[in-house]
Amino acid sequence: LRKFFVIGNWKMNVNKTRIDNIVKFMTAASLDPNTEAVVGCPSCYLSYARHHLPSEIGVAAQNCYKVPSGNFSGEISPAMIQDCGCEWVILGHPERRTIFNEPDELISEKVAHAQQAGMKVVACVCERKEDRDSNRTEEVLFRQMETLAASISDWSRVVVAFEALWASGTGILATPAQVQEVLAKLRYWLRHNVSQEVANATRIIYAGSVSSGNCQELAKLKDLDGFLVGSAALKPDIVDIINSRS
Ligand code: 13P
Repeated sequence: LRKFFVIGNWKMNVNKTRIDNIVKFMTAASLDPNTEAVVGCPSCYLSYARHHLPSEIGVAAQNCYKVPSGNFSGEISPAMIQDCGCEWVILGHPERRTIFNEPDELISEKVAHAQQAGMKVVACVCERKEDRDSNRTEEVLFRQMETLAASISDWSRVVVAFEALWASGTGILATPAQVQEVLAKLRYWLRHNVSQEVANATRIIYAGSVSSGNCQELAKLKDLDGFLVGSAALKPDIVDIINSRS
């Protein structure tokens, strides 16, 4: 069975004081033991977050490079993330794809190296408003899945995250039916292009304005196995989201 998975992505919105505050409310709360909870932390605070959070909560880097070391100023490697005590990395985040123009091929190389290094990967695919408006949802997502899948050696250490970019911080909410439709397509893709086993076992999570207000209804969806959360991850709301199935 697929364990419910919630990752709160802090993006570039924390400092030590803010992390202390988040640690405080996450530690005080009782978190559903049936949910795997992880936070996505800026690289300069990975050690700090790992040191202060309870060990049941995983810590993820928000990006990494495709080789172990070398002259790549500004980049960090999976080995460095692991050296900070963290075992997860988010790759292909929509903000990396759209703001920093990371192409599918680079993301794929990063995923391949992170897997070789033994890291667990939250691999993101995303849909922009123009993709949806032009009815290209399936084509766009399947192309991203194809490049990702080519680089994945161990599916048991991958969580697939679907982000509806048109519903991220825009005030427009994706309806549960719209979310279920896309997640079902992604699972269908896994079944037909990887295997039935991988399709059954792989967690597929949703991102895009997930809040304490909408998480419970979304958590009931058949093909939804958790959430990638942005702004609500900075507030006690993340506790409700982690507990949305309890
Ligand atoms: P929001 O939850 O703020 O829409 O952010 C989504 C996201 O990009 C999570 O990484």
